[in-house]
Amino acid sequence: MKIFLASGNAHKAVELQALAFAENLPIEMISARAVGGMPDVAEDTGTFIGNARKKALALRIKLPADAWVLADDSGLCVDALDGGPGVESAYYAGSQGDGAANLAKLIATMRGVPAERRGASFVCVLFIAGPAGVEHIFEGKCLGRLSEEPRGGAGFGYDPLFMPEGYTASFAELGDAVKNAISHRARAWTQLAEWIRRMR
Ligand code: IMP
Repeated sequence: MKIFLASGNAHKAVELQALAFAENLPIEMISARAVGGMPDVAEDTGTFIGNARKKALALRIKLPADAWVLADDSGLCVDALDGGPGVESAYYAGSQGDGAANLAKLIATMRGVPAERRGASFVCVLFIAGPAGVEHIFEGKCLGRLSEEPRGGAGFGYDPLFMPEGYTASFAELGDAVKNAISHRARAWTQLAEWIRRMR
């Protein structure tokens, strides 16, 4: 099964291909670059599912009718911020999408918020669109809470502040092996992998 990845990030296709190999899945990930590049898409629907669907369908119209297209969208939802930054996670501190600035803004915004109001969750939506209008959504969530200060050097984005449920260390302290076993992305991907296996 060939799956085109609706993302401007060629690295993502390589990463997902590696995950597919690891799970022994019979799929070939093809980056948008191989078909002329990912069209510009405004991620303005206000939801992870809406944004992922918009990206998938924007690439799909460039492809043959029987093609499969996968898109993802993810972010951090903080309880005390009514679910924010949520779909705005990548641009929380401005349109330049600076991960360090986003983290610094979240640390400052959450300063003084008591422990019982520091709940948060990472969310990842994978959206796949295929022949005859078939569409499937897989949503992975990782519950946790925010520490007061950033800790650890692994990962990216908000990882230094996020402590997954059951741990007192941040994602950035726990490292890739632990993160990849319990993360929002891993959970969404596991569901997609199960669906692909059932389809065979
Ligand atoms: P996108 O889904 O690639 O657009 O990512 C959205 C944004 O959410 C990223 O730029 C990060 O700010 C944040 N984010 C998503 N997943 C993670 C994660 O696993 N760790 C830290 N930040 C994340």
